[in-house]
Amino acid sequence: MGKVDRIYNFSAGPSMLPLAVLEQAAKEMVSYNNSGMSVMEMSHRSDGFGDIIQSAEKDLRELMAIPDSYKVLFLQGGGSLQFSMIPMNLFRNSRKADYIVTGRWAKNAAKEARKLGQVNIVATSEDKTFTYIPDFHEYKNRLSDEADYCYITYNNTIYGTKYTELPNTGRIPLVADISSSILSEELDVTNFALLFAGAQKNIGPAGLTIVIIREDLLGFAPESTPDMLNYKVHADAKSLFNTPPSYSIYMAGLTFQWIKGQGGVRALEKTNREKADILYRAIDESKIFKCPISNKDRSLMNVIFLTGDQSLDKKFILGAQQRGLVNLGGHRSIGGMRASIYNAMPLDGVERLVDYMKDFEQRL
Ligand code: PMP
Repeated sequence: MGKVDRIYNFSAGPSMLPLAVLEQAAKEMVSYNNSGMSVMEMSHRSDGFGDIIQSAEKDLRELMAIPDSYKVLFLQGGGSLQFSMIPMNLFRNSRKADYIVTGRWAKNAAKEARKLGQVNIVATSEDKTFTYIPDFHEYKNRLSDEADYCYITYNNTIYGTKYTELPNTGRIPLVADISSSILSEELDVTNFALLFAGAQKNIGPAGLTIVIIREDLLGFAPESTPDMLNYKVHADAKSLFNTPPSYSIYMAGLTFQWIKGQGGVRALEKTNREKADILYRAIDESKIFKCPISNKDRSLMNVIFLTGDQSLDKKFILGAQQRGLVNLGGHRSIGGMRASIYNAMPLDGVERLVDYMKDFEQRL
């Protein structure tokens, strides 16, 4: 890589964290709060760590306006373990669930659920390589009124789409994977029965998964459910049933404080919209780059674009790297480019990317 003044990391996850968060963690790495030990070395049962996990939960509740009727759980196992924990805990009456398949992660979630009950794919956008979000009004009649829950992936990290209208499932609990959009835009938690997100995109290091679950859904997992996979066990133990991913929780707490300092989710959403607008405009105005996603379904977090010529895409990605704009390659399954512009990506990173795109096109 040539000499560049700053690296902007467009990785889909693990991804960029706010510099201020990393610097604070660095300062506190060896001795946290004059304790003479790192957070990594602290007992998860200590008062010191108790303060860390309680503050993290309190700040997250404040940032997302999470009502008291919901539990916040700090778990492990990534988004992928939720694909199993959700059916394990929520299948209770009909053992049927409705899934809307908008990409690889929803597909994986449906696959896991199918091992435990009946999965009804009410809509899928696979016919057009997941380049759109199915229209609720077209599939609403296919939703089952006896489903134990309905499942969506709110933001599709690989394909660069997101919901702008939620399915109205009435009294059927709506479950959403918000791994790649948590805290990036305002979301009314009360529309959902369960939300979950791996931390490694908008929050902190991998190893932490956040689950926000409505209390009345707890306690229905079959007796045979292993304790570690039972939401109620974790809720009753306040996420300290076993050793939690303590350092990741500490880092998440720092990010939550950083978000508060930025003016909260509303302020971040405004910047995120600005960043996404600048990038999509540059793509739409370009003669060589195209975004395959229908306008209304475009993700604010993962921006997909391509030239249609694999060798040109490769050249673009390599040239970007030389300017310190790294990890712009699309997911291995679809190629092209993907710019993940999570909360921690400053406007400057997006502006530099757009400058480079224009420069690249001009030089062709
Ligand atoms: N859901 C979404 C939307 C994702 O983007 C990912 C991974 N990038 C996953 C689930 C799987 O997460 P994990 O790797 O933490 O299991």
